[in-house]
Amino acid sequence: MTRLILFGGPGSGKGTQAAFLVDYLEVPHISTGDILRAEKADKTELGQQAQAFMDRGELVPDQVVVDMVANRMAQPDAEAGWLMDGFPRNTSQAIVFEQMLDKINQPYDCLLFLDVPPLTLNQRALNRRQQMAQSGQQRSDDTPETILKRLTVYEQETLPMILNYQKHPKFIYIDGTLSVEEVTASIKRSIAKGGVN
Ligand code: UDP
Ligand code: MG
Repeated sequence: MTRLILFGGPGSGKGTQAAFLVDYLEVPHISTGDILRAEKADKTELGQQAQAFMDRGELVPDQVVVDMVANRMAQPDAEAGWLMDGFPRNTSQAIVFEQMLDKINQPYDCLLFLDVPPLTLNQRALNRRQQMAQSGQQRSDDTPETILKRLTVYEQETLPMILNYQKHPKFIYIDGTLSVEEVTASIKRSIAKGGVN
């Protein structure tokens, strides 16, 4: 497996499992959220464009994110494979991404869905916020309002897109409510069945 797309809601554990996966599969981690946060921190034009949307918990406009992904995928380290984390996030992004992959002849090997129910996601987000605040850190998009907004966007835009893929032969369902170790083990098993190469 060299090309994977990781689906899941905000706080579903994508980042944690992505860190394991990129190490295990030796592919670069492409996290659109991480790229956007870096652009924002560097105050680039893209970062400034994205900032308001991110701080509100809304989706950054499709074209901005799609261009960003295209640029990242054009870098040499992405030629041999990648793990896509946080993108696509809605049906139109998914359609454009599929076309992009078709054009560059890079079919994905699997779509991994880390399923965590929205109520659990909400609880996790609030817990994380509390922990971060206690250690003196805080992400500007981690207010209770943005947490709720991100969850709403997930339920209204991202989840329907994910469910559209449910019957896809490359779709792998993972119960994301288990412990980190159990989720990792379950991903490992699923990938092994699909064949690591
Ligand atoms: N975001 C976006 N499109 C992306 C990735 C991120 O619009 O492809 C924005 C969006 O505003 C989202 C925020 O960045 O709420 C944080 O995204 P990330 O994927 O990092 O969320 P997390 O992994 O923390 O759940
Ligand atoms: Mg993330």
